[in-house]
Amino acid sequence: MIRLDGKEVSLSVRTEIKREAEAFTQAHGYPPGLAVILVGDDPASSVYVRNKEKACVEMGFLSRKYELPADTKQADLLALIDTLNRDPRIHGILVQLPLPKTIDENAVILAIDPDKDVDAFHPANVGRIVEGNYSFVPCTPAGIMEILKYYRIPIAGKRCVIIGRSNIVGKPMALLLLEQDGTVTVCHSKTENLTEITRTADILVVAVGRAKFVNADMVKPGAVVIDVGINRTPDGKVVGDVDYESISLVASAATPVPGGVGPMTITMLMRNTLTAAKRTAERKNQG
Ligand code: NDP
Repeated sequence: MIRLDGKEVSLSVRTEIKREAEAFTQAHGYPPGLAVILVGDDPASSVYVRNKEKACVEMGFLSRKYELPADTKQADLLALIDTLNRDPRIHGILVQLPLPKTIDENAVILAIDPDKDVDAFHPANVGRIVEGNYSFVPCTPAGIMEILKYYRIPIAGKRCVIIGRSNIVGKPMALLLLEQDGTVTVCHSKTENLTEITRTADILVVAVGRAKFVNADMVKPGAVVIDVGINRTPDGKVVGDVDYESISLVASAATPVPGGVGPMTITMLMRNTLTAAKRTAERKNQG
């Protein structure tokens, strides 16, 4: 079985982003800029934000981090987003989710200028993905598409099955595979005869959030298996939604956890920020 190495793909994409970012900075006199807002002190979120900041520095981007206390008022967060929406040096705005329960996540997503919405969660960007006419795609499904492209895995005409229908992974994943002419089925917790369906998949994407949920019995011989899951075991280890060892006997290729889909997500955030910066510059040039 081929190990689909997300670190390798990520390195290749980052090299390209870095080169393009340098060219952008030379041409415009300022770098692409990303603002990341963290509300509260959730340890996992803090790690994600730190890694995003590190990636920005590595890419030569401007990185601004806003760490707000957990009791921040929604109005104050919206005011900060409004300021960043109007800041010409900031091309991407990311509010780290989840937010404290006192803040309406939807209101926050709606407040971000869709042209700076590098997470692609704003309904305007979701609609553009549905239409197939988009600039940003949520980072995790975008990263999965990069892995498939890098390893030249054919999608057109293939049976693609996704387990999970979240707005950040399952649904956009379905649209991207459909756009590439895959024949797509989306499964969820109410799906009947799940194994029967997953065993038809040439490409199986698993985004359930349950450790080792998928085993060899659920996989068609020769299938490509993409594991999105990040689950922590009681001893602190990170495991995926797929039992990698078990499926390695039947699948033709699969992403490991860690080292598969995970490394791609922040890389695609960098790509979206660069795209946002370029689009803003183009609009300015057009007057
Ligand atoms: P959600 O919890 O939002 O969605 C899980 C989905 O799995 C739901 O659609 C749910 O169905 C479905 N599901 C749950 N149980 C079953 C079951 N028994 N049979 C079939 N379907 C089931 O999760 P996310 O999409 O946000 O994340 C999924 C996983 O991916 C998590 O482990 C998360 O940590 C990880 N993740 C990793 C990222 C990365 O960068 N690598 C980024 C984002 C997420 P229903 O809709 O009916 O409830």
